[in-house]
Amino acid sequence: MLNGLLDKCEIVIVCPQCSEQLVKSIGWLRNQGQFACDCGAAFDTNQLAADIRKVEKSVEDFGTKVGKLRH
Ligand SMILES: [Zn+2]
Repeated sequence: MLNGLLDKCEIVIVCPQCSEQLVKSIGWLRNQGQFACDCGAAFDTNQLAADIRKVEKSVEDFGTKVGKLRH
């Protein structure tokens, strides 16, 4: 039910090669296997997606605990 809860949140990814700050939505990242910076550096988003899942899980647990307070 809460899957995709964070899809609209945006995160900033700093390119390790050129230090460019890339702002991407979590939903967008989740749907990419990888993406490339303008400088040509490629990122693998699988690890990122795994981290997002962990965050989502904890948010979901929190949401369950405070479920009665949600509006
Ligand atoms: Zn770059």
